[in-house]
Amino acid sequence: MKKAVRRWHDKLDVQLVDFWANEVLEKELQKDCTKGCSACCTERVFLTPTELVMIAQRLKKHLSRGSFSRMQRKVARLSKLVESEGREEWWRNSRPCPLLKDNECSVYSSRPLACRGRHSLDRKTCEVDSPEGSKCLTGPTMMEMAISADAMVETAQNGYNNAPVELIVGLDEALNGNGMDTWLRKGHGFPRAVAIVEKQIQLDMNDGTVDLLTLSEEMANEGSGPGGERVARERGAHNRTPQVDGREG
Ligand code: SF4
Ligand code: SF4
Repeated sequence: MKKAVRRWHDKLDVQLVDFWANEVLEKELQKDCTKGCSACCTERVFLTPTELVMIAQRLKKHLSRGSFSRMQRKVARLSKLVESEGREEWWRNSRPCPLLKDNECSVYSSRPLACRGRHSLDRKTCEVDSPEGSKCLTGPTMMEMAISADAMVETAQNGYNNAPVELIVGLDEALNGNGMDTWLRKGHGFPRAVAIVEKQIQLDMNDGTVDLLTLSEEMANEGSGPGGERVARERGAHNRTPQVDGREG
């Protein structure tokens, strides 16, 4: 199974990198993302269970015993906050992702697609305390969501639970519980992390935050002008969600 997880992960990575190289960079957009820029790493991240397992396996394999214990404590503490705070409160409190170290992603090559899909033309707009107005590119986000959805179908076809999960609670279930082993045995390994995603999707659908039709229209229009005109303001949440029907911010 571990080989299958690796294969799916590699497939996701390659497709997305290709997309950026051919569709984004080739058209000479001036992205403002640089090494050490991490304002977007204070948002909640929704990802596929395959990606979560990849990250958890990496942490288990590469962290020293002391660092692993610290990570366990950190995700245990933060996961309680994820479960008790709403999206707006989380956003206001600007809590960095537990995987962020010295302003850089400590699992960069294994970072979720939702993080890979995040590109902005103006980092200042990423630092405001609301996702409204962020100048994130819609194209990579939509592509990331489509690729994630495709991966989830493949996961399900192989008999594994494919429900998307929230990163921090999922890490708590993987590192402090038996979530990863349960998932690898084709069980429901991450019920709490799945519940966070489901709750947010429901909230977004209720308040109209999710507006994929508009996002699709914006993406279609992005090719029509110079760089600045390709900017699409995401509605409500510059989310990092693999779902095709709901996103988190
Ligand atoms: S999306 Fe915004 S905060 Fe994130 S790396 Fe790019 S410019 Fe920085
Ligand atoms: S996984 Fe990495 S890139 Fe994504 S939010 Fe966490 S630190 Fe940032």
